Amino acid sequence: MGTNPLRALDVKILLFGKDGQVGWALQRSLAPLGELVALGRHSAAGLCGDLTDLDGILATMRQISPDVVVNAAAYTAVDQAESDPVMAARVNAVAPGVLAAEAARSGAIFVHYSTEYVFGGDGVNPWQETDTPSPLNIYGKTKLQGELAIAQADCRHFIFRTSWVYASRGENFGKTILRLACERDSLNVVNDQIGAPTGANLIAEITAHVLSAINPTVPSGIYHLASAGETSWYDYACWVLDYARRHGVALKMTSAAVRPVPSSEFSTPAKRPLNSRLATTKLRTTFNLSLPPWQAGVERMLNEVIHNPLSHTSQSS
Ligand code: NDP
Repeated sequence: MGTNPLRALDVKILLFGKDGQVGWALQRSLAPLGELVALGRHSAAGLCGDLTDLDGILATMRQISPDVVVNAAAYTAVDQAESDPVMAARVNAVAPGVLAAEAARSGAIFVHYSTEYVFGGDGVNPWQETDTPSPLNIYGKTKLQGELAIAQADCRHFIFRTSWVYASRGENFGKTILRLACERDSLNVVNDQIGAPTGANLIAEITAHVLSAINPTVPSGIYHLASAGETSWYDYACWVLDYARRHGVALKMTSAAVRPVPSSEFSTPAKRPLNSRLATTKLRTTFNLSLPPWQAGVERMLNEVIHNPLSHTSQSS
């Protein structure tokens, strides 16, 4: 194995999207690796973190001159993207292309995140990095365009495609299910979309691990990053309710009152893939990693919610 070019103490990391689920977790996991400059959409101090401002982000890259750029910013409003395709493309495709081109010029490593929504969702096999994408919605199309723009820029890059991201901070599926189970007698939840809930903390920790492990022999490219195992949104909801009940949370309904329904019963502007499974062998073998089962991260998140009544109350109000 070669040496890690990032072992120097003066490594500079520029993070875009610091306030998102993954960006927030990255602030903690990247900090020990070197000097971290973390920007959100409205960052000040003469630096630009707004991905719609292409001149601004380019100037910021040149001013900071980072060794590593990590882009966790994205247009993630999947349904809204259907009626806002130009903005979604600017943030998800054009801006990453600009950042990647500058990384190629300066020699910086570029880390980016993408989604299983680049795939068409047919079949039951986990998607491999080599499978042909065919996105069903604008969000997926723009994320795919972003991947292609980065590859074309020819910088040293690592694109982590992930799925069903949640974080303790802010709203998430598990918290929403708990809140609804306190208010309602029954719930309909989709049972034909299959994937793996993946915690923002896990994504951030893997990112830091990968950056620490990079050496000249590690190939640039796309790596699938998701928790182990699989579930449907329906089974996920039932699992959350059963866990909460076992841990003493008073709910108005049990998991028996959750009704499994097909996606066709939910009309949403953006079509969702049914098969969101990601094969993670490439990531695990390249970086000698083990990915925990999805229940482990969700359990940790629920523990925080259940044992922190303040945050639970604020989410429920
Ligand atoms: P979030 O929506 O939590 O965070 C995205 C961040 O990007 C937000 O802070 C948002 O700011 C910011 N942002 C949006 N537009 C701009 C802009 N023009 N300039 C600067 N920042 C902007 O997303 P996640 O953390 O969950 O996603 C991280 C990555 O993972 C993304 O690449 C996403 O595509 C990918 N991914 C996410 C999945 C999920 O389920 N969430 C699933 C699969 C992949 P603001 O809050 O102000 O809008």
